Amino acid sequence: MAEVDYPASWYAATRDADKERAPLATREEADVAVVGGGFAGLHTARLLAQQGKRVVLLERRRIGWGASGRNGGFVGPGFAQRSGVLIDRLGLDHTRQLYAQSRRGVAIVRDAIGELGRPDILMGTGKLSVSRTDQGAGFAGRTRKLADQLGASFEPWETSRVRAVLATSRYHQAIHDPTSFHIHPLNFALALADDIERRGSKVYERTEAVELTRDGDGWRLGTQPGGLRVRHVVLAGNADLGHVHRRLAGAVLPVATYIAVTDKLGGRLDEAIRWAGAISDTRRAGDYYRVVDRDRLLWGGRITTNTTEPPRLRDMMRRDILAVFPQLGDIDIAYAWPGIMGYAPHMMPQVGEVEPGLWICSAFGGHGVAQTAAGADAVAAGILGDPARWRLFAPFATGWAGGTAGRAATQLAYWGLQMRDWWDEKRQAQNAETLRT
Ligand SMILES: Cc1cc2nc3c(=O)[nH]c(=O)nc-3n(C[C@H](O)[C@H](O)[C@H](O)COP(=O)(O)OP(=O)(O)OC[C@H]3O[C@@H](n4cnc5c(N)ncnc54)[C@H](O)[C@@H]3O)c2cc1C
Repeated sequence: MAEVDYPASWYAATRDADKERAPLATREEADVAVVGGGFAGLHTARLLAQQGKRVVLLERRRIGWGASGRNGGFVGPGFAQRSGVLIDRLGLDHTRQLYAQSRRGVAIVRDAIGELGRPDILMGTGKLSVSRTDQGAGFAGRTRKLADQLGASFEPWETSRVRAVLATSRYHQAIHDPTSFHIHPLNFALALADDIERRGSKVYERTEAVELTRDGDGWRLGTQPGGLRVRHVVLAGNADLGHVHRRLAGAVLPVATYIAVTDKLGGRLDEAIRWAGAISDTRRAGDYYRVVDRDRLLWGGRITTNTTEPPRLRDMMRRDILAVFPQLGDIDIAYAWPGIMGYAPHMMPQVGEVEPGLWICSAFGGHGVAQTAAGADAVAAGILGDPARWRLFAPFATGWAGGTAGRAATQLAYWGLQMRDWWDEKRQAQNAETLRT
């Protein structure tokens, strides 16, 4: 069995007293088996349990051990794939419906926090997506037009407004989304699992689903140990599904990203960041960060298909922070940890019924905290008899993501995109210099 302790993250250090759950040791029957104890599995199980289904959720390690318990905690609408690409591919009406489903995911997260009676899980509201290059005079008009097309609430911020709250000359304009917010993701995952049990369904940890076979109109799920006989199976294993379904496991590419949390920085953090919401920059593999615990900076960034942790992770993250906010000076990194995101080649989630009674809810990439709820809502509605919502995701297939060759190709593509971002910034800085001289 794989390692089961939570990584040494700030989230693990500040998590609620969690109960360790026993593995599934016997053979059981239920309506639905959910494989994976991240947000995709937890929301699916909870939404179905709310509707009276008997659900059994299986988690190989601990609840929230994967991406869901160690991410940036940003909750907002939209997908990993850019809306412009979706409009070109699917047309405006379909993209609008997908965007509305992603907003439904945001609402599910917000409502769940209320229903769980845990307002402390919500740590701040609003999100700024800042640009590191000047977007020019047409920026505000373009942003408003896109918001209007999508039915979105985001709005343009001009550079002066951005720099009034973020004391760095790195940034130009931003898109502000007042509907976004940020949370303590591990405590949210733990609270969701408790709620599933309160509603009469079951959650097992340290239980890996290893084999899936058809059995009449249902499925047998072989687990280590124990086993299940169910009518529906939902695979929500992200980039780490393992042997239970090799084809679907191969349809998701693991991509690593990192987070660091500084020691307490006192007043100098207030002077650099006067904004209680979440912040990310719009580069392909950009920085994302927020203030937590009053005066710590939680900073995420970097993307690589090499999933081994870099030996000098803290130094790397410190350098990234100081490249944007050099005035923070001598900072200590108290925590730094890696996490794995699951991407399909089309950069959209895989959501829907793969064959009768077999469902997938996976590949949410770096935009999963709300979108897992959107996907879970679509799958739960499908299991309850309404296919309309998961069919929105039908154009995004579950084809092979390319294995090792896929990883190499993805890495090359990321390097190319990073290079383009770097070049755009550099060219703009050179142009500005030429104008000054
Ligand atoms: C560092 C980092 C920062 C991020 N920041 C953000 C952010 O700020 N906002 C945002 O929206 N998204 C963010 N993301 C992405 C987001 O966290 C993910 O998209 C989302 O959590 C995925 O949820 P999931 O349930 O699909 O996967 P996971 O949380 O990875 O859960 C999958 C679970 O399934 C279990 N499992 C797999 N196979 C089996 C099996 N065969 N049997 C039993 N159990 C199994 C695994 O052990 C794992 O616990 C970030 C991701 C990372 C890594």
